[in-house]
Amino acid sequence: MLSRALPVLFDPAQAFGTRAARLLVLTLAFFLGLDAFWQPTASSDYSVGQEVLVRPVETPSVPLASTVTVPPLTGASFVPVWEQERAAYPWDAPALFQASPPAPVYPPEERWRQFAVPFELPRDKKWVVVVLDDMGVDVVWSLRALQLPKPLTLSYLSHARRLQPQTKAARASGHELMLHLPMESIGAHAGLLGPNPLLVSLSPVELQRRTHAHLNSFDGYVAVNNHMGSLFTSNRALLDVVMPLFRQKGVFFLDSRTTAATQAEAAADAAGVPSLRRQVFLDDTDDLATIRNQLAQLERTAARQGYAIAIGHPRPYTVQALTEWLPLLASKGLALVPISAVMDWQLARQRLLARQAQGG
Ligand SMILES: [Zn+2]
Repeated sequence: MLSRALPVLFDPAQAFGTRAARLLVLTLAFFLGLDAFWQPTASSDYSVGQEVLVRPVETPSVPLASTVTVPPLTGASFVPVWEQERAAYPWDAPALFQASPPAPVYPPEERWRQFAVPFELPRDKKWVVVVLDDMGVDVVWSLRALQLPKPLTLSYLSHARRLQPQTKAARASGHELMLHLPMESIGAHAGLLGPNPLLVSLSPVELQRRTHAHLNSFDGYVAVNNHMGSLFTSNRALLDVVMPLFRQKGVFFLDSRTTAATQAEAAADAAGVPSLRRQVFLDDTDDLATIRNQLAQLERTAARQGYAIAIGHPRPYTVQALTEWLPLLASKGLALVPISAVMDWQLARQRLLARQAQGG
């Protein structure tokens, strides 16, 4: 074998005998670095291309894997590994993997719906809406009002200090938001109106400019009601200038009814703005006995027409009277509801009546 492995110029086996020849060849191989000659004979157990399965030493009881069929990367039969895992774990419910349902899209003129406090009107009760307006100016009592049972409907003046945090806190407390828009009243109340009121002496362009400024002072409100306004709301021509901006903004109108001569609901109708009206003022006279009487009046109105809307203010006696009265509502067959819920109900009723009129 050595004679075949080496060139046959010199045969050491012939020269020195077989054992000496083997020793000479191994010595030469060592210095030439031919490691293959030094491999123990056991290495010949392996051959190139042979698969070697090695049992993990630390887990001796695990059986060797059987043949694994790798799925094709395309085609209908391919199921990704994570899908297999999902099927294997029922607690990993499909809901976890589904996208959340898309937010409902409202027509632009009903943008208010996205800011409405989610509410299911209880059909076995009469409904009362308590609007507190002039909100935000007296910060202390405005914040105190947020602690009353929800959902109140809170109407903020645009010139209130820290209007954004105040309105955000109100909404986060579960109350509904409105914008309280100053309009000129009969008599000299200029100081009570606040900045940029709607005055009957203003041009239509200026009225629109001021209305825009109020409408854009904060966001998240469902409706507008007039602050004062006994002069302005009796002027139909001027209301017709302003009402279309409410429709553009996608909010509805609550007529505070500071005058019996108000034209606001008619103007709202003409402009395609849904509207409601106030039935009871709670605290025109700022004393506890009067406010309690007005709350009793509110109950009677709700009993008669199914719902009633009151307007009050964030003031000590009003807050005290409401603190006593609101927890008793359920026992009287009444429920406090946000104004948007009544608006929604009234719109549904109007559409139903319109359909019936068409069908008949
Ligand atoms: Zn007001």
